[in-house]
Amino acid sequence: MAFVIELEPCINCGLCRRACPTECIHYFTTGRRTHVIDPAYCIDCGLCAQVCPVDCITTDPLYVHDAVVLAEAKQHAKAWARRRYAREQAAKEQALTITRRLTTARE
Ligand code: SF4
Ligand code: SF4
Repeated sequence: MAFVIELEPCINCGLCRRACPTECIHYFTTGRRTHVIDPAYCIDCGLCAQVCPVDCITTDPLYVHDAVVLAEAKQHAKAWARRRYAREQAAKEQALTITRRLTTARE
């Protein structure tokens, strides 16, 4: 199985592309602008379908994965998740630092 974008209803908002942990959703600006999923790197997590505002991401139950490529894609997803977690932690730390400074300045 792999996830697939229905091209007609897609509004090219890019939310799915930003949510995909394997970065296998590509945006083509040549010709007809469109978002397309590379099924070989799709790990079937469903995150893209969850964020799509027009519900135009479905599944292809007949797609058969290559085991080696799928394993690579899962490693890519783990690294992506670690990077995102680190960014979120850094943003929280920054917000806390600013809050502490503001609190100290008011005292
Ligand atoms: S199901 Fe997951 S891996 Fe596949 S395209 Fe959507 S977000 Fe990417
Ligand atoms: S989230 Fe949906 S509408 Fe937005 S680019 Fe992806 S498939 Fe298209």
